[in-house]
Amino acid sequence: MEEPLNKLSWKHQYKTAVNNYWTKNFRDESENRSTLQFMNFNETQIGKPHLLWQIIGSSRIATGTYLLQSNISKFSNKQEDPTCPLCGLGDEDTIHLLTSCNMLHQEHKIHYSKLKEITIKYIGQSVWNNIFSNIEAITKLIVDASNYYYIFNSKTAVVDVAKVASDLCSTLHIKRIILKSEFSK
Ligand SMILES: [Zn+2]
Repeated sequence: MEEPLNKLSWKHQYKTAVNNYWTKNFRDESENRSTLQFMNFNETQIGKPHLLWQIIGSSRIATGTYLLQSNISKFSNKQEDPTCPLCGLGDEDTIHLLTSCNMLHQEHKIHYSKLKEITIKYIGQSVWNNIFSNIEAITKLIVDASNYYYIFNSKTAVVDVAKVASDLCSTLHIKRIILKSEFSK
């Protein structure tokens, strides 16, 4: 019987797998994106999910160009199933990814409380309760905090909230990719 991996070597293997995954993805991405074509990524050593990749992932969510199962289904004329590949419990659309997917519950929980805290710091609890009592409004806040500039009334506030929202998006993006690659094994 094989020796169970000790914690350190498991960690190492995991890290290596994740790094290889990101390096490959980043190269594929850079080859296909005109904005990145002048940069040489062949020697890129990715010690952690690359910052630029994180930005690409989260900005895609913000611009609606992130490829979710519901979009794939739409583009394929409903040939493809819109069901979330992670939880299988609903269509995978932006709201589902950002607020509802069961498999991302832990990430939602941590980042959602940060988002709530920073937003309340600027607008107060009662305005939060009034405006952000539904997942559509929260999704809109995550996707683009400047949607609520009229409430924040401050550039600094919008930027601070957008930073937290962007962390949330890149964390979800990374977790989703990792889960999907685990499920497809
Ligand atoms: Zn899901």
